[in-house]
Amino acid sequence: MNAPRPTPAAADQREVSRLRILEEIRAANRIARIDIASATGLSPATVTAITADMLDEGLIEEISQDAGTAGTKAKRGRPRVLLKLRGEAHRIAGLKVSQKNITVLLVDFNGTEIALHKHDLRSARMTGEELADEIKTAIADTCAQADLENPSLSGIAIGLPGQIDAPKGFVHWSSSLTERNVEFGEILSRKLSSPVFIDNDANLVAIAEQLFGDGQGYRDFLVVTIEHGVGMGIVLDGKLYRGARGCGAEFGHTKVQNGGALCQCGQRGCLEAYVGDYALLREANIQTLGDRPRSVADVLAAAREGDRLAQSVLDRAGQMFAMGLSNLINIFDPQLIVLSGAQIAFDHLYEERVLDSVKRSVVEVDAPLPEIKVHHWGDLMWAKGAAAYGIEQVSARAAREVVNAPV
Ligand SMILES: [Zn+2]
Repeated sequence: MNAPRPTPAAADQREVSRLRILEEIRAANRIARIDIASATGLSPATVTAITADMLDEGLIEEISQDAGTAGTKAKRGRPRVLLKLRGEAHRIAGLKVSQKNITVLLVDFNGTEIALHKHDLRSARMTGEELADEIKTAIADTCAQADLENPSLSGIAIGLPGQIDAPKGFVHWSSSLTERNVEFGEILSRKLSSPVFIDNDANLVAIAEQLFGDGQGYRDFLVVTIEHGVGMGIVLDGKLYRGARGCGAEFGHTKVQNGGALCQCGQRGCLEAYVGDYALLREANIQTLGDRPRSVADVLAAAREGDRLAQSVLDRAGQMFAMGLSNLINIFDPQLIVLSGAQIAFDHLYEERVLDSVKRSVVEVDAPLPEIKVHHWGDLMWAKGAAAYGIEQVSARAAREVVNAPV
């Protein structure tokens, strides 16, 4: 090939166009070239040239619109040719690190599930090196389950709790790590032979809600995650908002009581220190004189059976949570808030009286409150969010690599 090397500006433009075309094909699932041109505003000639390269690279494939209708040819004219992503082009792993285990979801470039695996952790907190080793084993076991070799992964995306600078792969703090300020992306890159992308787990849930869940069709929404801690993902104007240092959206560490209960972050009075599962258990144990509850489920069961102490613990959590939600509404004025989590354990946080309390604390206007939806989902959906983030990052690399390849 003797084509002249593109100028940096032209290369940038081509990268942007390639990514837009890839994203358009992904969003549409299958689409004709002419429809890509009208959706992206690119000229039909540009779309034809770029998609020809992508076909050569095996990123996309052509299918006949009649495919699937018993192979009959159209009676008149040629069948319309559509483009779709080629699933086999890339394999991507999405991981969710929880307190007790790591969930690994292996998908192809289309997002189709290849394998799903749960790896038990020896302890809830460990060093960056130790957690990276656990992640490596979890991925290797998943690949073995799917008869794949590790090097065939094009990207590994990992969701962790805590304050994470996603572009830098840097963990300021995480409840999964015993150390602060960990170059976790670098540690993982040393141990794994594929590109690694890390992000705050609640951000990945927000991506999953946007792509496959309750956030579909909304431009401005918040996702509040409730499990061991309380997290949040912010989608503004259709895009995930990460803040300047990756330390924002820490709904769980907003203060609801001056000098209040001790939080796992080391500070006092955080919302999480009243509504997180560890907080409920701690509070129930401080107050209980008889049998000590061992899990949040014990506290909930006791409350259901009429135990006043258990009820008061849950009541206080509900009131604190209502205060937090009304603060969010007063700041963001979102279209929707999704309360997202795996555990049945937080039923008490969206009882009618909690929502009534939210209504009383929101600035009064003659307009309805934002919708509040509850979405129970398991670790699979967290991992799905991670996989979606991985696909996004791998697509961005695919758009970039060919542009920068020697000509
Ligand atoms: Zn805190």
